[in-house]
Amino acid sequence: MRILVTGGAGFIGSHLCERLLEKGNDVICLDNFFTGRKKNIQHLMDYKSFEFIRHDITNPILLEVDQIYNMACPASPVHYQYNPVKTTKTSVMGAINMLGLAKRVKARILQASTSEVYGDPEVHPQTEDYWGHVNPIGPRSCYDEGKRVAETLFMDYHTQNKVDIRIVRIFNTYGPNMLPNDGRVVSNFIVQALMGDEITVFGDGSQTRSFCYVDDLVKALIKMMEQDGFIGPVNLGNPSEFTILQLAEKIKEKLSSTTKIKFMPLPQDDPKQRQPNISLAKEKLGWEPTVSLDDGLSKAIDYFRKELNK
Ligand code: NAD
Ligand code: UDP
Repeated sequence: MRILVTGGAGFIGSHLCERLLEKGNDVICLDNFFTGRKKNIQHLMDYKSFEFIRHDITNPILLEVDQIYNMACPASPVHYQYNPVKTTKTSVMGAINMLGLAKRVKARILQASTSEVYGDPEVHPQTEDYWGHVNPIGPRSCYDEGKRVAETLFMDYHTQNKVDIRIVRIFNTYGPNMLPNDGRVVSNFIVQALMGDEITVFGDGSQTRSFCYVDDLVKALIKMMEQDGFIGPVNLGNPSEFTILQLAEKIKEKLSSTTKIKFMPLPQDDPKQRQPNISLAKEKLGWEPTVSLDDGLSKAIDYFRKELNK
């Protein structure tokens, strides 16, 4: 297979490229390096079957491929709010360009959607048939609404043009290759604890998230792409739910850190709770995560120690 991974130099994309290469595929990694970096894919340059293209998916591109994983989009609130108009363009124009490409070359195309399509959810845990509770004009809207429109475009290209689509809704995922200044909670807390800085808990830390280790997620992405007959959307994530304060305490404990927890204002529209119901993924893909938060955090900590020389 010749496979295009947009956003392939980012956190999840780089792991996905690696796994696809190991499976013997030809991989074209496309990225504009907004939040991705060469370092994440440097080790893949040794594969003859690996190519990199520096390109922005808001512009069209013509390539001959069999499959497309559309991962390109900043995912950390800090990064996607930096240039919100560009974030919406990346989701919407990026989807149109990649779907146009898939239509022309008859490629199967998978969209990396997100639990953020559920917004600040009133249904808990979240199931795929829940339509969500999203503010259309808040600081998170560029990301949430952009991803929602992308899902709409995927569905409409499927019904109108018979494009072979897959939609996955990814819940909070963490692991090696996250940027130390990524701004998301797992990387922030580990970096703060390693540097001896105060751990910044937003609000009172009672809001919840459910954290999936990247290897588990990548397996599910590939399973979803490779199976026939089920287009999604499907939730992919680890259903073990923790409060943000529990996460802070767990990371402190794992690092035997004496650093203090500093409570800071809760950002506007920060979802109060998030936990995937993964019954559909279990049924349709025979998949469920196997890496516990403890084990996954240990691997992430090893990675950040090396990144920071700590
Ligand atoms: P990331 O920021 O590390 O990776 C995104 C990659 O896309 C980066 O390499 C970036 O440079 C690239 N990119 C951004 N805009 C682009 C553009 N216009 N053209 C080309 N490349 C562009 O984030 P990630 O965590 O690896 O997320 C990957 C995908 O998964 C995103 O689409 C994200 O929305 C989705 N997702 C991730 C999570 C998570 O917890 N990590 C959760 C839900 C959804
Ligand atoms: N958060 C926090 N401290 C930080 C970064 C994030 O308390 O330094 C909180 C944030 O308010 C949210 C949760 O951790 O409730 C997850 O934030 P993240 O940015 O990782 O992703 P989100 O799930 O909100 O998109």
